[in-house]
Amino acid sequence: MILLLALTACSPYRDIEDRWTATRAVCQPPEPFVRDYIDPDSYDPLTDACRERLAQDFGVAEVFDSMKVREYVFEALFNLLGRDQGTVHDLEVGEYVRQPFIDAMTEQAEALETDDLGQLLYNFSAFHIALIIDDTSINEGFRYVDEEQAMLVNKTFEVEQDAALPNGSGWATFVVHEASHAVVPGHVLCPDWGTPNCDADWTGAYGFQVATAWRLHEHCDVDADTYNCSLLRDELEDSRERILAD
Ligand SMILES: [Zn+2]
Repeated sequence: MILLLALTACSPYRDIEDRWTATRAVCQPPEPFVRDYIDPDSYDPLTDACRERLAQDFGVAEVFDSMKVREYVFEALFNLLGRDQGTVHDLEVGEYVRQPFIDAMTEQAEALETDDLGQLLYNFSAFHIALIIDDTSINEGFRYVDEEQAMLVNKTFEVEQDAALPNGSGWATFVVHEASHAVVPGHVLCPDWGTPNCDADWTGAYGFQVATAWRLHEHCDVDADTYNCSLLRDELEDSRERILAD
């Protein structure tokens, strides 16, 4: 008992807040969660009150170079808020989830006294990300800056295409990826591509992202939400390839 208390006292998550419950009450994500972007009339736009809550939880900057990117960021946060991911209790070591992720989620489940994986990953991400801004000076994609707890986004080129659709479910997995950079070992060089965005093993950001993409995909309705489910499948495969260990 004394050991357990000592462990809890040391946990960085002892002060973690549950923002998920209050924000869901405002945003009222549909259940089951479906956002068929191919047919924009099939879902309701986010309300201003919901946008405000999401902006508060993650420090989304007021002004982006591309305001369209800002809208897509809200869509990603709404996906993270609304999509079901099952429970920590149901996680077992397998092809797409490994012990470091289960251990991290179990630690937070204790701190937040909930077993709901979607709730935990939303709160985990909001805990580690205090600011989301666009920054076209970085390579195309996303980056985490430790000192500012900032998630940088450079997606202007992709998003400003006329035919671009929100990548809400796929970007949601990147929110978890970037947040995990606060606590995981950094990336290493990919031997096949020569780029520095692989992980040596399952303790890294891609381990978090693979597990998230897998849980989201398992709960995605392939018939009603085909586009999002295929995005999640892509993120699942792409992030898995970036983990060098088996
Ligand atoms: Zn990364």
